[in-house]
Amino acid sequence: MNGHTLVPHSYDYDLIVIGGGSGGLAAAKEAAKYEKKVMVLDFVTPTPLGNSWGLGGTCVNVGCIPKKLMHQAALLGQALQDSRKFGWQFTEEVKHNWMTMTESVQNYIGSLNWGYRVALREKKVTYENAYGEFVGPHTVKATSKRGVEKLYTAERFLIATGERPRYLGIPGDKEYCISSDDLFSLPYCPGKTLVVGASYVALECAGFLAGLGLDVTVMVRSILLRGFDQDMANKIGEYMEEHGVKFIREFVPIKVEQIEEGTPGRLKVTAKSTKDDQIIEEEYNTMLLAIGRDACTRKIGLDKAGVKINEKTGKIPVNDMEQTNVPYIYAIGDILQDRLELTPVAIQAGRLLVQRLYSGSTTKCDYVNVPTTVFTPLEYGACGYSEENAIQKFGEENIEVYHSHFWPLEWTVPSRDNNKCYAKIICNIQDNERVIGFHVLGPNAGEVTQGFAAAMKCGLTKEQLDSTIGIHPVCAEVFTTLSITKRSGENTLQSGC
Ligand SMILES: Cc1cc2nc3c(=O)[nH]c(=O)nc-3n(C[C@H](O)[C@H](O)[C@H](O)COP(=O)(O)OP(=O)(O)OC[C@H]3O[C@@H](n4cnc5c(N)ncnc54)[C@H](O)[C@@H]3O)c2cc1C
Repeated sequence: MNGHTLVPHSYDYDLIVIGGGSGGLAAAKEAAKYEKKVMVLDFVTPTPLGNSWGLGGTCVNVGCIPKKLMHQAALLGQALQDSRKFGWQFTEEVKHNWMTMTESVQNYIGSLNWGYRVALREKKVTYENAYGEFVGPHTVKATSKRGVEKLYTAERFLIATGERPRYLGIPGDKEYCISSDDLFSLPYCPGKTLVVGASYVALECAGFLAGLGLDVTVMVRSILLRGFDQDMANKIGEYMEEHGVKFIREFVPIKVEQIEEGTPGRLKVTAKSTKDDQIIEEEYNTMLLAIGRDACTRKIGLDKAGVKINEKTGKIPVNDMEQTNVPYIYAIGDILQDRLELTPVAIQAGRLLVQRLYSGSTTKCDYVNVPTTVFTPLEYGACGYSEENAIQKFGEENIEVYHSHFWPLEWTVPSRDNNKCYAKIICNIQDNERVIGFHVLGPNAGEVTQGFAAAMKCGLTKEQLDSTIGIHPVCAEVFTTLSITKRSGENTLQSGC
């Protein structure tokens, strides 16, 4: 050693996680299991209207959790209507109270925020409610709400800063529009609402607002649910339209003006056609923007640490071990380029990464066949290929699509919505008719999809589905009796209502 002693660098922490959301918290808690010295920095930049929330990230505070609870509130309204046909009698007028719902949802979220803090403390993970940004290769600056700055060093870093709603960049949008970051804690009923966008967030919010009895319009620039199976997406749109949601297609807002302040106030929205020069104007109480989300990567000093991002999208490219171009800096969750933006994906990636770093594991996160559900009024569960992607990848002649409409037994007595629920599988003919795409529109679609996703991971084939005995009478049994191919053109509609 030529008389020199090799002194290892001494850092404040083994791992600093920037972002305490789904992925960051899961990774931090996992790292603590291996007795690593871990710090989590989490900070919520307030929305343009000033809203912020507690520890836990998007899913818990302004995503999956409040969204599913409000969807449930809407489903209960439908259940109340159905219940009369099942013999329930009630004389009181049935009304929905927005504030009661929002308070209940926010109380539950508060308990989750608290639970996360306790869990971090118990696991001896240091948590700071501070904004983290790189100021040098192994150093981050943490800035608290009051502006107090501290520097911390670490051997490794995990970036898990997630995404925030995009704004249109038109006059009045930041002053008068809300996003999903504001909706779930809105202290008043939004009233007549214009939802802008065709993302799953847009359709889910429009769906539950309409289900709560509000006058809802969705303004869509082009297609619904880009990236999802379009056959299913269009069926979702049709169902929503039949259930009172209005759609303005091929228009984009160009100006938002406040006519009257209030809770809610009144807004005038001007929109322009995407095809010609047609201009329309309409009054709404609330305008909800759900036109996409941007990765929080541009203001965290990545250049100081040398981490490359996709300049166009702001997303971070990583290898199959969630490692950025800087070997000791990792990234997970919604900020990743070409990965799915889902809570369980962020959690799985975070846990497996930490196990590889600290326990000698070699298991990588498998981003294939990840199931998901869109909680529109008619729920949509999916796993694997969309029909268009399967055709593109394998060729139309090499895939067989089996499909059927079905009518949930629970909907027959209230005589509603026959021939709306729909089941579809996509099979690879060249590979023993392996199921490569699973799609279901119907009640409890997420519950239905989860188990089939496990079967697909095990290599489910059409023959195995056929030899599975169904559970009667449930919606999912339709998948054990699918006999009509799309190619045959045979009718899948059920007669009678
Ligand atoms: C309306 C809506 C509904 C959704 N529904 C579902 C669903 O049903 N199912 C599902 O699986 N997924 C759903 N998602 C997606 C899901 O919420 C995300 O995939 C998930 O939260 C991503 O986790 P993450 O760890 O990447 O980021 P996040 O959970 O967003 O966490 C990132 C955290 O980092 C913080 N942060 C950002 N920058 C900094 C910084 N510089 N310093 C410190 N902290 C910082 C943020 O404030 C945030 O707390 C939904 C999303 C939305 C918006």
